[in-house]
Formats: sequence, structure tokens, C-alpha cells
Amino acid sequence: MAGDGSPQTPSGNCRVLLVDDAPFAFRFLGSMLEEAGLGHQLEWKSGFEDGLEALRTGRFDVCLLDYQLGERSGLDFLRAAVAAGLRTPIVMLTGQGHRDVDMEALAAGAADYLVKGEFSGAMLDRVLRYAVERRRVTDALRDSEQRYALAVEGANDGLWDWQVPEGRIYLSKRWKEVLGFAEGELPSALASWFERVHPEDVDSLQYELDRHTHGKTPHLEHEHRLKHKDGSWRYVLVRGKGVVGPDGKAVRLAGSLTDVTTARNHDALTKLPNRVMFLDRLEYLFRRLRRDPDFGFAVLFIDLDRFKNVNDSLGHAAGDALLVDIARRLEQCVRGVDIVARLGGDEFTVVLDAAREPDGAVRVAQRIIDELGQPFTVEGRQVFTGASIGIALAAPSSDPFALLRDADTAMYRAKAEGKGRYAMFDAAMRERALKVLAVESGLRKAVDEKRLEIVYQPVLRVADRSLAGFEALVRWRGDDGRLIAPGDFIPIAEETALVALVDMYVLQTVCAQLGGWASRGLLGGRAFVSVNASRRHFAQVGFAAQVGAALATHGVPFGCLKLEVTESVTTDAGPQAQAECEALARLGVDLVVDDFGVGASSIASLQQFSFKGLKVDRSFVRHLDGSDKGRALVRATVELARALGLSETAEGVETEAQHHALLALGCEFAQGYLYARPLPLAEAEAWLRAGRAP
Ligand code: C2E
Ligand code: MG
Ligand code: MG
Repeated sequence: MAGDGSPQTPSGNCRVLLVDDAPFAFRFLGSMLEEAGLGHQLEWKSGFEDGLEALRTGRFDVCLLDYQLGERSGLDFLRAAVAAGLRTPIVMLTGQGHRDVDMEALAAGAADYLVKGEFSGAMLDRVLRYAVERRRVTDALRDSEQRYALAVEGANDGLWDWQVPEGRIYLSKRWKEVLGFAEGELPSALASWFERVHPEDVDSLQYELDRHTHGKTPHLEHEHRLKHKDGSWRYVLVRGKGVVGPDGKAVRLAGSLTDVTTARNHDALTKLPNRVMFLDRLEYLFRRLRRDPDFGFAVLFIDLDRFKNVNDSLGHAAGDALLVDIARRLEQCVRGVDIVARLGGDEFTVVLDAAREPDGAVRVAQRIIDELGQPFTVEGRQVFTGASIGIALAAPSSDPFALLRDADTAMYRAKAEGKGRYAMFDAAMRERALKVLAVESGLRKAVDEKRLEIVYQPVLRVADRSLAGFEALVRWRGDDGRLIAPGDFIPIAEETALVALVDMYVLQTVCAQLGGWASRGLLGGRAFVSVNASRRHFAQVGFAAQVGAALATHGVPFGCLKLEVTESVTTDAGPQAQAECEALARLGVDLVVDDFGVGASSIASLQQFSFKGLKVDRSFVRHLDGSDKGRALVRATVELARALGLSETAEGVETEAQHHALLALGCEFAQGYLYARPLPLAEAEAWLRAGRAP
């Protein structure tokens, strides 16, 4: 072969070793080759040992061997050469009528034979060249086969080789070992493979096989589950390639089988079971639970508090190190039969085997909270994190996904109640979760289909009951035609990004309305419309720009749009909120604090965020009727507003008594059922035209 000192080609000249004890044979063959004009080089050794010695040098491409070597036979020589692992092809020279010797020689490994006196120079030449070429080809094949087998074995893969038309398959020892079988225990048969495939994977495997055998894919590659001897499922990756027959279909497929169960089932970082294995385990436990009603188990869903801080401030390597430490601590909090898994990110789960009562699960949850509350040392620094845990107990009617979702829901509740706690899932939570889902999908659709409506509640000047403006309030017309109040969907929409969608819809509609009123000359008295804006908007940059675009698009006069926000804007929204507020002020959009007095009010924030007004919450206005205390509260608020140069609006005025109290206090604006309910557009326009109640 190339590079190993035997560079012959099929047409090239060969270096031939003749091993024959008769000197005339050398002369005879030499002249035969010469006469035929062939350039083969012939060397001669007469003895058995000399011959073997010469062969061992590897200098020869082919050996001609007489079957009679003095005391010993050519067959002995042949066998000795083969036994010594010498690969030079050997052609036997036999006498006439020695067919049995010829056959024996071939069986012993001779490349070919020539019957003395019956061959020409041309025939000798052909036999020599063929012998050399055949050996070259078989060596190459053997090498490549061995190379492949070694590679596959080194990778610990199983081998398979399938003769498609005959339906025969070869499965290697390692192939069977992957499934827990010894060589003799599992027949090399198609059924040994295909009847062990997981029912859910059969179709996709068949599909990939079909595609490959019809020449649609260059390689076969498929991952599926096979049933192990012990009944568990192993994940295997099958790779292969087909030999295509004349009709373009594969006649033979061969390839490897790799056990990828560990990689599939484990988290590479913490070495804990991953989501796949966790769900497998739950599947198993549910089967057990359905068989045995006395059995029970629980899932804890653990979310780390403040993990993001560590990742952001110390970097991902530190974050990874912390996750590994956390994994080890979690393992110490549970028993051997329980499973700790990492679902991804900073989410871990625990399956508590045989936990029937909530008490046991709660104890473990508390232990985990205590453990993870202790500081960690990461890269030489002390790091504090903590955990919020949701607990769900398995019921026979449930399933792995539902149970995990329940634990997740409970975890969110624990987080919402203040971190570092656990919460047990209950039916009310499920109902709430279902409602959130229903609202989310329904509201999204309603926005798309423009089934959100806006009503306008007049805001009056207390002094003369003239119209100052309106508050725009959203309504959702449900599928059944009924109006749904914002209290039933805004809080839920606020949990997701959906509220932004709703608010932008309201904002656009109101701006279009204001533009229309302006062009019809209805805004003469500088009537305004105030729109409620979720604090979520202020957490993102660009809200003011969006508002500005809406004002410009619809030609809204300066100062006609106001925004109502709750005070939480000042505490929740982060540093960019202030910049957004200032940008809005430049657009002539006043910010008004809604529901003033209900949240944790901070006078400092009122100034910092350049609010222009406050709306006194209905709960205070209600007290105006009776107690002096209620009156004192409203008075204080009105005075505060005045001192800070803010306008004040009383919300929810329902009685004449309340109105007169506000009048006496000098409150500027008021809105409430006493004057008007939130009105449909046509009625609001009638108010606008009249400048007061029509
Ligand atoms: P809010 O901004 O404090 O709006 C005032 C609420 O009080 C309105 O309820 C209004 O109908 C009601 N109201 C007005 N006068 C009286 C009265 O005399 N007596 C009583 N009992 N209630 C009165 P509504 O329309 O159900 O809205 C509830 C809340 O939903 C609003 O409170 C606001 O926070 C929110 N909201 C409404 N529309 C939107 C919107 O487009 N976007 C956002 N983000 N929130 C909105
Ligand atoms: Mg409001
Ligand atoms: Mg309010």
C-alpha cells in the first residue's frame, strides 16, 4: 500500500520472490518473464528458512512457491508464512494432477496456483499481478473495517448491519450490552431492535428510515428510546448509512448505536437529573400511585431568590459555581429515595417519595429554605441567596405536567407573598391560574378584534359643577356581549405584559377622539381626558416617545391629555422612570397620582417625579359624610396638594353631603356617580357641548 514500501500498481512491475529448491526453475521462470518482455524483478531463495527470511523483509510484492521444498512441503511454508502474519501473497507452483494439493493450498491461504508446464509468460504475468492487486484491495478493506470497528468500540458504541431485502441484521455484542443483554441472550434479529422501540418513537424512526432508504437523506440519524432488559428506557442515538441498489433504494444499512441516556437525563453543570429524567420519574410515581392508593408523593418547585444578582454582578462563572453548591446542599436536605433535579436556570425541583401528608413536604421545604438561606462562598466571597418554594401533592387524577405546573403556581404565590417562603398549592390557586390563562387569551383576542370599549366619566369643577374633563375607563365586551369591568381583568393583565397592549389601545383611541373633538371645535374650554397608565410602562424606555407619537398623529392640542398612575411608579419602576416622566412633561402631558392615600405615599416622590395633581381615593371621600376624622384626612390632603402646587380631584363622590364638604374644603375637581357615571361616547359629547350636565 502507499507509503509502506510496496508501491505497485495493477500495471506496474512486481518484485517477485521465488522459493524453490530446484535451480533450473529460477532460470526457466526468469527467461519466461524476460521473453514476454515483462519488467518484473525475480529473486530466488532455495531453502525453507531462507525463503521465510526473505519474505519477512517485506521487500517483495508476491511470492512464487514450489510445493516441494526438499524435506518440507510448500504447504508447510505457506502455513508458516500465514502463521507469522506475513501478508505477501503467495502463488503455489504445483505439478499436474495435484488438484487436491491445489485446493489445500488455497484453503491454507495461497493467493492462487499455477500448474507447472501449463502456463505461458502472459499467464504468469496475469496471475502475479492479480495476486498483488487482490491483496492490496483486501488489505485496504480489512484496514478500513478494522479502523471503523476500533473507532466504534473506542466510542463504546454498538454496531449494526442490516441486509434489507433479506431482512437479516447483525447486532454487535456492545449493541446488546447497551440494553443489558449478554451476547447470547438477545438474537441478532430485527425484532430484537424494533420491538423494543418506545411506542411514541416508532413513527419518527420509521419516517427517518424511509427517508434514508429512499435516498432522501445522506445519513440516517435518529434518537429514540429502547426498552432495557430491566424494563427501563434507554435513549439511543442511531447513526448509519445505506448502500443503494440499482433501483435507488438501500439494500444494506449499517451504522452505530450510542447510549445517550446519561447525557439526555442529566444536567451537565450540576450532574443532577434534568427535566427529562424528572418527568420520567414522575411518570413512574404516578403509575405507582394509581395502583396503590395508600402511596403518595409531593413535588417541590424551588426558585432561587436574587440569583440573577449574583450572575449579573459576579459573572456567569460565579453563577455556575453557586448553582453547583446549591445542588449539593439540596441533595443534603432530602433522603436517598427522593430526587433533586435541575429544570434549568435557577429552577430546581424535588420529588419527595412517599410523602402523603402535607406536613412532611412542608418540613422539607422549610429545611431547604433554612439551608439555602445560609451564605455561600463563591470565588472567595460570601454570597447570599434564598429560595421560594411551591409545594404540590400528587393526586391520582393528575399527571406529571399538571403537578409540575401546580408546584410552579404555588411557587409564584410564595414569591408574591414575600421571598424566602413556601406555599402549598390549593384549589383556589388552580382557579386563579385558570382565570389568568382565560383572561390572557381572551384579552389578547379582544385587543385584536377591537372589542375593548372606552367610557368617559366627567370630571367637574367643584365650585360651579362645570365640566373640566373626563377620565377614560376601559371596558371589555366579552363574547356573550356583556361588559367586563376593568377590575376583573386589569390586575391580571398587569401580571403579564398584556396591560401595555390594553393601555396603548386606550391611549390611541383617546388621542384619536381628542384630535376629532379639537377639529370640531369641541375642546374650546380646554377640556382634558385623563388615561390610566400602568406602572409597567415606566419600567421601559420609550414610553414617552410612544405617547408623543400618538399625540402628533392625531393632532391633540397641548395639555389635553393627562396620565393617571399609582404611586408605585415611584418605587417600582427604576431609574429610567424619572426620565420618562420628565419627557412626558415636555409633551404637555400632566401626570396625576391616582388613588392617593391608599399606597405608601411619599411626599418626596411627589416632587421628584414632577406630578401635577393627585386624586383623593374614594375610601377617603366616603368618610366625608360622617366622621370628623374623615374630613380631617381630606382636608390635610387638599392642603398638601395646594402647598405643593398640585391640583386635587376627589374620586367617587356619591352624595350631595360629600359635594358640600368638598366645596367647603376648597377642593378643585371631583368625579363620581353624583354627577355622572362613566358615559358612552355620544353622551360624553353632549356634556362637552353643554360644558356641564346636559
Ligand atoms: P380608577 O382609575 O380609580 O377609576 C375610578 C373607578 O371608580 C372607575 O372604576 C369608576 O367607574 C369608579 N367610580 C367613579 N365614580 C364612582 C362612584 O361615585 N362610586 C363608585 N363606587 N365608583 C365610582 P372602573 O371603571 O371599574 O375602573 C377601575 C380601575 O381600573 C380604575 O380605577 C383604574 O385603576 C383601572 N383602569 C380602568 N381603565 C383602565 C385602563 O385603560 N388602563 C389601566 N391600566 N387601568 C385602567
Ligand atoms: Mg384613574
Ligand atoms: Mg382612582
